[in-house]
Amino acid sequence: MDNEIDWGKLPFGYYPTDYNVRCTFSDGKWGPIEVSQSETINMHMAATALHYGQEIFEGLKAFRGKDGKIRIFRLEDNARRMRESAKGIMMEPIPLELFKEMCIKVVKLNERFIPPYGSGASLYLRPIEIGTSARVGVKPADEYQFIVFVTPVGPYFKGGFQNTKICIMREYDRVAPRGTGRWKTGGNYAASLSAGVKAHDLGYSAVLYLDPKEKKYLDECGPANFFAIKDGKYITPASDSILPSVTNMSLQTLAKDLGIEVECRHITVDELREITEAGACGTAAVISPIGEIDDLDTGEKFIIAKDGKPGKISTILYNKLNAIRLGEEEDTHNWNTIVE
Ligand SMILES: *Cc1c(COP(=O)(O)O)cnc(C)c1O
Repeated sequence: MDNEIDWGKLPFGYYPTDYNVRCTFSDGKWGPIEVSQSETINMHMAATALHYGQEIFEGLKAFRGKDGKIRIFRLEDNARRMRESAKGIMMEPIPLELFKEMCIKVVKLNERFIPPYGSGASLYLRPIEIGTSARVGVKPADEYQFIVFVTPVGPYFKGGFQNTKICIMREYDRVAPRGTGRWKTGGNYAASLSAGVKAHDLGYSAVLYLDPKEKKYLDECGPANFFAIKDGKYITPASDSILPSVTNMSLQTLAKDLGIEVECRHITVDELREITEAGACGTAAVISPIGEIDDLDTGEKFIIAKDGKPGKISTILYNKLNAIRLGEEEDTHNWNTIVE
């Protein structure tokens, strides 16, 4: 059956696999890891996940490398971030070792869905945690379920590494200044849907959100972090309301390795006039290069890529990160977990 999958044409969507793994927290402890073939969850209709948004998730990828080995990229960093998300909305943090064990197990169980080297596709891991206790009064659950499922996803850029157009809209915020932006919660996504759909309808790939307090500084690019190249430096917003992207951290490290200066600081909208490259970064695409940013409120258009092509530094960083994930280049920062 796996021979029938056209890896290169797979979308970034749900494709069923053989197994998922689950673990329940109750009576103050995590239980055994269960292997499931079911695609559904049976839960109480009054579960806190359904009423009060106690839901967090992660997204990471496994690859078949050049040497045939399976690699999971920055597994521990995703595990740590998920613990932070759990603490942020009063959920039970998942022990690092449990997170790792379950991710490795689910990848092995679904080995036949790991796309072959060279296909550009990968196996996407989606860990989720939900509060399952029945509550009507607003209070955190004391029971939780942690599930990791996987799904093969195709190459992000079907037509090659290409520029996209994004927009600034002041009408919507996705998070509050001291709210949940730092954590990967489903609620943040719910809050971004109307702006996202509006942007897509207008022909933009994403919304570049401004800081929700002053609307002066750049924050995030939809479900991805934002970075730009200015005077040869890699600049990226420092903000309490954005999610610390593992991809962004990786790109910063690679930039420093290449002798490129990195600045994490406030970036004003006006500064967009002076940048030479821009990109949205995250696990799905690594970098989605940005050629144009339109401010829908002022009517100003920031044309970043005068020649319409992805920037030089962005392209180098993109290729380098991909090469490390695929085992083509030495993993000097120990980012890959090899699945034996
Ligand atoms: C997941 C996510 C990102 C990207 O994070 P990576 O770890 O690089 O995949 C960026 N912003 C938001 C809001 C996200 O949810």
